[in-house]
Amino acid sequence: MAKRAAKAGTAAAGTTSPKPKTAKAKTVKMTLAERLPALASPGTAPAGRPPSAASQWRETRNAAARARLEKSLPALFPTSVLRYALSRPLVPPTPRLAVEGYWRHHILRADRLARALAVKSGQPEGWAWRLGTWTPGTRRPDPAGEDLSEKGLPFSFRVPPAPFREAPHALGKGHCCICGQPVYRFGWHRDLWGAGAPNRNAAWHAACVAAWKFWIAPADHVKALKRRQGHRCAQSGKRLLKTAEVDHRVPLYRIWREERARPWPELLRYWGLPNLQVVNRAIHADKCAAEAGERASARRSGRTDPPTLGPATLGPATLGPATLGPATLGPGSSSDEADTGSA
Ligand SMILES: [Zn+2]
Repeated sequence: MAKRAAKAGTAAAGTTSPKPKTAKAKTVKMTLAERLPALASPGTAPAGRPPSAASQWRETRNAAARARLEKSLPALFPTSVLRYALSRPLVPPTPRLAVEGYWRHHILRADRLARALAVKSGQPEGWAWRLGTWTPGTRRPDPAGEDLSEKGLPFSFRVPPAPFREAPHALGKGHCCICGQPVYRFGWHRDLWGAGAPNRNAAWHAACVAAWKFWIAPADHVKALKRRQGHRCAQSGKRLLKTAEVDHRVPLYRIWREERARPWPELLRYWGLPNLQVVNRAIHADKCAAEAGERASARRSGRTDPPTLGPATLGPATLGPATLGPATLGPGSSSDEADTGSA
């Protein structure tokens, strides 16, 4: 892999530049077969058996997708992403779809990367974790009379704080509204192409969008989390059952109540892998009951949580990718490359 990457880098850089990865010089474009010979050719049907209609259809479809991908692929492209793309049952036809699919597939890696990028940005001066007063179900204020200080504020402590989505701290296009770092081609987080400046049409990293979806709906990724735990319950050590559930080790209401003053990048850990576990349902039910009792006694003693949304309103309908995905992460469209809008 490293050898191939080095080969790609050398070929791409030409002979004049000492730094192949950041060379802006004219680059030599390689075919998919030259980049990854083992993966670039179509698969073959098992010997002695005629290919089924479905596999014939897939071959035709993938051949077209590979041709399209090859055409729009720049000379420099992350080898790991290309390897992922070419090994899919359905090859993504554009570089951007390949990048997005790569991060969706490596969700725990996306989570780690997004949090690391946030650490690089640090907490913006004067920022504090606040919740908006607008809640779903009430009418949004008239845009003309909108309170800008409220813009971008999360409406519940279940949504991770994102200072760069808030109007007073927004960095504008070219920077990721989730982590605050510069965004490059295809929503990549590093300037592989030596552009020297972020992509002004982009407002988020592909990795950070995947991480955001993971943070707000970790149950959608129960498979990856189970695999990571070796299919053992994080509490009892017993085998995880089919009905096992994803749980925040430290519940989010306690983060809001007790850990709110922590620096922002540290807070994100509570939505990410370090605070997530898969447990069998009975154990989860006991833990939830204990937490509910604890919250009730806290309320009786006068310590109140902010108005929150019960689990019923926090299902996929309100927190799913459809409402908190790229479409609502910022204004405008995510199409920052010629190849993006098409598929
Ligand atoms: Zn980011």
